Amino acid sequence: MLVLGIETSCDETGLALYDSETGLRAHVLHSQVAVHAEYGGVVPELASRDHVRKTLPLLRQVLDEAGARPGAVDGVAYTAGPGLIGALLVGASIGRSLAWAWGVPAVAVHHMEGHLLAPMLEPDPPAFPFVALLVSGGHTQLVRVDGVGHYRILGESLDDAAGEAFDKTAKLLGLGYPGGPAVAREAERGDPERFRFPRPMTDRPGLDFSFSGLKTFALNTLQEVGADARSRADISRAFQDAVVDTLAIKCRRALQETGLQRLVIAGGVGANTALRERLAVIAAEAGGRVYYPRPLFCTDNGAMIAYAGSVRLAAGQHEPLAIEARARWPMESLAAL
Ligand code: ATP
Ligand code: MG
Ligand code: FE
Repeated sequence: MLVLGIETSCDETGLALYDSETGLRAHVLHSQVAVHAEYGGVVPELASRDHVRKTLPLLRQVLDEAGARPGAVDGVAYTAGPGLIGALLVGASIGRSLAWAWGVPAVAVHHMEGHLLAPMLEPDPPAFPFVALLVSGGHTQLVRVDGVGHYRILGESLDDAAGEAFDKTAKLLGLGYPGGPAVAREAERGDPERFRFPRPMTDRPGLDFSFSGLKTFALNTLQEVGADARSRADISRAFQDAVVDTLAIKCRRALQETGLQRLVIAGGVGANTALRERLAVIAAEAGGRVYYPRPLFCTDNGAMIAYAGSVRLAAGQHEPLAIEARARWPMESLAAL
């Protein structure tokens, strides 16, 4: 079964063709970084308009790259939430309409399920059950995963997501948008001994997170010592060390509490090298190992949506003709396969 995936929930337009027999056939991605950079963050209306401009040209491109005709597509999967409602509606409208025109089923995909299943696109995918750390721009969640749709949230951020904290810290350090990669680059040159930031909520039981205090810590430190290049790197290092350490402590706890050995990391912050290295050690200590998508598939992409859609279509799930998108959509409410 050849499935077209369409992702437009935020500031990336991603399309892909996934074949349930042979794997990923092609994927294309357009990032809106240049559209939003001058505003220091994503402007929702500009995001919607850019998805309108880019989705159909990218559809032609992904079909070309796969050497496939539209008639070869057996189903269409589109991100229906959570995300920016206007941006979601672009992909949902185009995806639902294409499926209608082509006479094939359409399936609405949950963006975080897409992230969660992205490691399944790699050569050595994890078996169920596992613990997943979803760390992205809008979410920080630890999830017990017993199968597709069998999700139990073990803990989540009570305020900022880890990616959001990276982005806000980058902004106050003058590192621009998107912030995660910029802070990570600075942190590499930073001195790990100069500042020590707190590890929020690690001194009490539970698996919830709180990251909003770390950016305040970064701001106070910046005001104290000044924004010279050295200090910016050292603050980035202290910030990243605190985030990585906090995530690692909670992942270790989640593995202990569930008795599971496999740890999956997904979402944009999962592209962070320091985090990947640290969590590999944590999973090994638990007698297991860590699984993650290739860095390109940690952030938003069409391939993860095509994959998640193909699994749900294969299980017989599909949507009526109505076009629906949801800005909020609890992952635990998804149908279990
Ligand atoms: P959500 O998936 O929750 O809806 P989103 O789609 O905006 O949010 P993603 O595209 O998964 O989020 O990830 C983007 C986030 O990942 C941004 O916050 C970005 O700063 C962060 N990020 C990307 N690369 C890195 C990195 N190397 N280190 C740290 N953070 C990173
Ligand atoms: Mg993005
Ligand atoms: Fe995302």
